[in-house]
Amino acid sequence: SAKANGRNCVRLFDPNDPQSGDDSEHIAALLRVAVANDLVSLVYQPILNLTTGEIDGAEALMRLKLLDGTPVPPSVFIPIAERTGSILDLGLWTLRQACQEILVPGHAPVVSVNVSPIQLKTRGFAAAVAEILIDTGVDGQHVAFEITEGINMDRQSDILRCIKDLENMGIRIWLDDFGTGFAGLSWLRLFNFDTVKIDRSFLQDSDTPKGRSMLRDIIALVRNRGHRILVEGIETEEQLNLMRQFEIDHVQGFFIGRPATLDVFKSKPLNHVSASTDDNDNTPMVT
Ligand code: C2E
Ligand code: MG
Ligand code: MG
Ligand code: MG
Repeated sequence: SAKANGRNCVRLFDPNDPQSGDDSEHIAALLRVAVANDLVSLVYQPILNLTTGEIDGAEALMRLKLLDGTPVPPSVFIPIAERTGSILDLGLWTLRQACQEILVPGHAPVVSVNVSPIQLKTRGFAAAVAEILIDTGVDGQHVAFEITEGINMDRQSDILRCIKDLENMGIRIWLDDFGTGFAGLSWLRLFNFDTVKIDRSFLQDSDTPKGRSMLRDIIALVRNRGHRILVEGIETEEQLNLMRQFEIDHVQGFFIGRPATLDVFKSKPLNHVSASTDDNDNTPMVT
């Protein structure tokens, strides 16, 4: 098994490979000590406001490395953290870290943090969030929580109550990965999200008339319900121009900026991108 190679040398967990279960256990154990051992960190992906041409936000994305430095992708460790409950401590660590690193020094006006439904269901979560805001001196208005539409929202009154508590602190609630499952529609029916992030799968055929009309339809659906729209996964200039045509509020993607360490995020000039308005001097928000 992978463990025979030593604890630091681990084959990544593959859900299709029954022999990789060992690695899942290893990662589960690692996650419990990850903060104390400096194995987790955050990277930040810029969020571009297409109206102003400014980077007016950053999404915090968690990174995990094994003891030997090997990175483990979130698609592997987040489900393990959710299954074992480690996501509760890791999620609070993420919020505190993002407040301290980005908001307190003013590197971006808004930071968005991904929040698992398990966190929203946990009693005391909203109170723990409030404590972090007080500790760091951050106003909730500068924080957005991204919730994935993955679970069915019907009869999730505890989650809805938690979301209301967070909103009362000024925290914006965004719906992440919209359009990847039917559950998203019931989320829209139940809750008035500040922003809906349209999943990057909708950009896949944006170079064909069929793909473009699909994109136009989903944008119209979200817009008619009064939400701001962020389209994820912009990888080309053509896609960015299409978003300008569609008058999308915010965009994110490799073409605008890849997720980057804090140092890189702070120092990077705004590449490729110019404002859709005429009076912009193109000075990056992020200094
Ligand atoms: P997400 O929240 O939808 O984040 C966007 C993912 O798409 C990120 O992957 C990002 O690197 C990637 N991405 C951004 N722009 C592009 C692009 O132009 N092209 C392509 N191909 N990909 C792009 P990452 O960092 O691997 O994260 C994957 C997922 O893991 C996230 O999806 C989120 O659901 C979850 N995740 C990451 N960090 C956290 C966290 O702190 N807490 C929780 N609960 N989940 C997290
Ligand atoms: Mg997200
Ligand atoms: Mg997303
Ligand atoms: Mg996603």
